[in-house]
Amino acid sequence: MRMVDIIEKKRDGKKLSGNEIEFFVKGVVDGSIPDYQTSALLMAICLNGMDDEETLHLTQAMAASGDQMDLSPIPGIKVDKHSTGGVGDKTTLILGPIVAACGVPVAKMSGRGLGHTGGTIDKLESIPGFRTALTRDEFIDSVKKIGIAVAGQTKNLVPADKKLYALRDVTGTVRSIPLIAASIMSKKLASGADAIVLDVKAGSGAFMKTIDEARKLARAMVDIGKGAGRRTVAIITDMDKPLGKAIGNALEVREAIEVLNGKGPVDITEVCISLAGKMLELAGKGSFEACKSLALKAIENKSALAKFKEMIENQNGVPDVVHDVSLLPRAVHTREYPSPDTGYLASLTSDSLGTASMLLGAGRASKESMIDHAAGIVLLKKPGDKVQKNEPLMVLHANDASLFDAAVQQIDRAIAISRDKPKVSPLILDIIE
Ligand code: URA
Repeated sequence: MRMVDIIEKKRDGKKLSGNEIEFFVKGVVDGSIPDYQTSALLMAICLNGMDDEETLHLTQAMAASGDQMDLSPIPGIKVDKHSTGGVGDKTTLILGPIVAACGVPVAKMSGRGLGHTGGTIDKLESIPGFRTALTRDEFIDSVKKIGIAVAGQTKNLVPADKKLYALRDVTGTVRSIPLIAASIMSKKLASGADAIVLDVKAGSGAFMKTIDEARKLARAMVDIGKGAGRRTVAIITDMDKPLGKAIGNALEVREAIEVLNGKGPVDITEVCISLAGKMLELAGKGSFEACKSLALKAIENKSALAKFKEMIENQNGVPDVVHDVSLLPRAVHTREYPSPDTGYLASLTSDSLGTASMLLGAGRASKESMIDHAAGIVLLKKPGDKVQKNEPLMVLHANDASLFDAAVQQIDRAIAISRDKPKVSPLILDIIE
């Protein structure tokens, strides 16, 4: 088989066979296919797409390219959850403990943030002492012992995706539904869960800017899950505005604790209850409505907060953060951002706010950058709220005050004030089963 023939076939809009896709993925991982040929095929896929069968083949070949987690030593139905990435998205920190408190094992491998989006592993590492690099045995034993572990992905989990993603990032080939679906679902399949709940974000802060694009991505991923024999459901949620009020690692952990205490913002609480409800439903705990009630109860009776504390202690973190958030890192400097006008806050675009938070130190411009766990933004107003000129809309947190100006320039782009009350889009946009 020759790589050039495979590239030409896809260039001409033809369907690739399972063997051709396997040859490509194997060659990417063992280095026998040079980056220029890989990039050419990625662009051809980006332009001409892949059908369901090709996308499933690609996903399965990628999932098989490295370690595959065997979760069978953990009794019960293991349900994984994945978010397609967003700003202020601390859902895993909240729904992991909720689901575990309801008796369903959570064995979750998560990633780090890149660019304007945050990552669960960075957020957890803002808890003093918290260890995210667990060995396979530590990971499995933790879930068996306390019902939950959240750890970084092992080095050899889907090596094909590591290579392909790095090339896609620099060749303009990230935004392709089959490539995104295969990238995400290969990691989910290799992570070993029996069932998967996907949180597909739609809006300015997401890869999919419109609900129609998000629906197509959700459908592609649900079909892959089904084709691979894993029950998969996608919930499409709004990412035009950040989720909750906190953006930035320690600030988001603080907000997750507020939600688990029943005192968090309504939007993030609602999204977490729905996602946890779906996870519990897939684990056989009853109907979606009954499972949402179970999730809510775990917040009300503080069993989810207790589970979060247990998880922190089990992974060497300081467990008392759940009662005393002053134990989390705090930035030395804060600056308020005043409203430019009187009226209603009409928009607060997530991507600009995510970039502003990154510029304050909370995120990475490149994979090698160091992050400042204390940095970020706390919103005081959300779209639809009435605002007065010069009233603070948010508070910026940084350890280096010279970073404020660049962040403020980004925030200027994120804000729109209107005279009339704006229509605020619902949080849960669709569910694809
Ligand atoms: N997240 C991933 O893991 N892969 C993509 O391609 C896009 C988002």
